[in-house]
Amino acid sequence: MKSTADVAIIGLGIAGATLAIELRNRGVQVCAFDDPAHGTVSRGAAGLISPVAGLRFGVLDEWQQWWDHASAFYRSMQAIEPIPCYRLLYGEDERRYWQRKRQQLTEENLAEEGTLPAHTVQCLTPPAEVVAIRTAARVHAARVLDTVAQLLDTEGRLCRRWVAEEEVTPIWAGWRVGGIECAHVVFCQGPALAASVRFGWLPRMFARGQRIAGTLAHSIAPEPLWLSIRGKSLMLEGRLFSFGSTFDWETTQPIVTEQSTDHLRRQLEQYLRVPFRIEQAWAGVRPIMADLKPAIGEHPQQRQCWLFNGLGSRGLLLAPRLANILADAIVGDTGTIPPQFDLLRFAC
Ligand SMILES: Cc1cc2nc3c(=O)[nH]c(=O)nc-3n(C[C@H](O)[C@H](O)[C@H](O)COP(=O)(O)OP(=O)(O)OC[C@H]3O[C@@H](n4cnc5c(N)ncnc54)[C@H](O)[C@@H]3O)c2cc1C
Repeated sequence: MKSTADVAIIGLGIAGATLAIELRNRGVQVCAFDDPAHGTVSRGAAGLISPVAGLRFGVLDEWQQWWDHASAFYRSMQAIEPIPCYRLLYGEDERRYWQRKRQQLTEENLAEEGTLPAHTVQCLTPPAEVVAIRTAARVHAARVLDTVAQLLDTEGRLCRRWVAEEEVTPIWAGWRVGGIECAHVVFCQGPALAASVRFGWLPRMFARGQRIAGTLAHSIAPEPLWLSIRGKSLMLEGRLFSFGSTFDWETTQPIVTEQSTDHLRRQLEQYLRVPFRIEQAWAGVRPIMADLKPAIGEHPQQRQCWLFNGLGSRGLLLAPRLANILADAIVGDTGTIPPQFDLLRFAC
């Protein structure tokens, strides 16, 4: 491991990985610490990115910018592919939301009435209506993380271990981080922010999510297909499926529970008319700020100590643009952080 760097990144999930690339693209020497044994929520993310989300067909503010940054970044990593994505509407409430949003979404080419492939629809509880989400893609987050880790590793710039908060100490020119001297340190810790003392004043919340995956008795979608059913997503590819996620605020631990597995199984049985076998369950914790917006920026008292967190349930979509903004802010005095994402909005 090199003994100096311009910037030390703590945590190499999607936040740390996108930031590492943005900084390297600006000629900055980066080193990273990451403890795989601690878990990385980005590795288990379902992988769907779309500006349209939630039961109410909410459209992300500034979606075009998020989308442009995310698609360009993941293309450069060869980690994105378009995927047909359909929203199945079962209840009156969902149809009402669709009717309300329909004109806007159709005009912006984000969604429109759609038709599912016949062999797929036969195997589902018939929906009242089907909406095709036009702007959606699948991201292979694990591929991005592996590529970035390998890049840093071959240069002796990745240390696969936990860095305790006491190991991040100020020195005259910046910071000593786990024995490495650097000008800046960026905490990209994801849900491990729960234990942070340095950033303990932030209004942090955490939502555990669980997914299940396994095999169907027979294939109902030979090509990859994404179905959104009552706020949950069902990914189909040949005989493989993956379904989730749950949302609960009770724990900050990424624990798989029988209760969540049962809940997902029952829900899937309601909509899928093909027998299936659950072979895997995975849980992760979404790091969220109280106002549901990400938090990036410099610590209010500790110069050159930065945070990149609060990616919530759309981390894969948000990370590339936020990394771009944050890298500009770290590198020069030119970059300004939009106030709605700046962590200083929470500082007294
Ligand atoms: C079930 C589920 C499904 C999801 N599906 C999607 C989806 O389809 N699309 C989407 O856009 N988003 C999705 N998300 C949200 C997305 O996964 C998160 O927003 C995002 O992954 C958070 O990334 P992160 O880099 O902040 O955290 P992480 O990916 O957890 O990365 C943090 C890393 O920092 C390391 N670390 C922390 N502290 C230290 C330390 N002191 N020393 C060394 N290493 C440290 C951790 O070990 C970890 O590797 C999903 C989330 C869940 C839970």
